[in-house]
Amino acid sequence: MSNRFPFSKSWIFLTVVFTIFGSDAWAWGEEGHSIVAEIAQRRLTQNAAQAITQILRANPNSTPYSTPSLASISTWADEVRYNGPKPNETYNWHFVDIPRQDTHYDPATECPKEKPEQGDCVINELSRLRNELRCTAGDQQLRALKFAVHFVGDIHQPFHTVWENIGGNGITFTTDKLQFKGKTCSADKCSTPPDNLHKMWDTTLIRAMEYNWPTFVDDLEAGWLTTDAAKNDNKDDPVAWAEDAHNAAIAFNVWVDAGATLDQAYYDRVTPLISQQLGFAGIRLARYLNDVFSSSQCPYTPRQ
Ligand SMILES: [Zn+2]
Repeated sequence: MSNRFPFSKSWIFLTVVFTIFGSDAWAWGEEGHSIVAEIAQRRLTQNAAQAITQILRANPNSTPYSTPSLASISTWADEVRYNGPKPNETYNWHFVDIPRQDTHYDPATECPKEKPEQGDCVINELSRLRNELRCTAGDQQLRALKFAVHFVGDIHQPFHTVWENIGGNGITFTTDKLQFKGKTCSADKCSTPPDNLHKMWDTTLIRAMEYNWPTFVDDLEAGWLTTDAAKNDNKDDPVAWAEDAHNAAIAFNVWVDAGATLDQAYYDRVTPLISQQLGFAGIRLARYLNDVFSSSQCPYTPRQ
């Protein structure tokens, strides 16, 4: 695989992205990240909840008697992706480029380090953030928390783990090709044309499933989160999270060609995967934070 891409994939990715797509199609949207964060918030241990409360109250914008929710900080990472003090330094932390047909992650080619000003990839960053969350303080710890809440969400979006067509951003649609009917809104009201496959997964399909994100959380609590898959999940390695998301994209046949019609059959086939991935992200984010704040031993060392 190392010879497949003669250039830095991330560099090509970044260049094409800025040229064509702008900045709004690169993560679960606000709804998806809020759903993930809220599921996690409900599952924090006392230690983790207290630590997080302290970190968030250290923010000068928070009042002494209230704590911002994890949902409220869950999309900050997208804001600083282009507009922070060093724009682009966190760019590659939102995804990992695994070629579509591969079933395993190859760190040598898929998490490049040759352009450190753009970051490497979401897998490495989530590993580093464990240490930053436990072993830093003040603004650095707050920043790490905001990143962790966001990136655990991102790594579960299947198109953040697929290289081809810039993670689906290169496959565009016009509104007339969206022919599924959502639960609370028609497809044309859930989307702003022109649209692309990645953005469909970030936002459009979630809104079509349930327009109100807190209600989406309630639906998951009564539905997917009661399943054996949810109850028995014990994966805590970002590599496994990325590979699962990537392979689920294959298993659920989420890929379509440009110009195809996204019909009710597509909607019915893929929306269970969206519920699954948002659910996994939420319970895994809770375990990630609970583990980080279960000890104050520095540096952080993974559990054996
Ligand atoms: Zn993101």
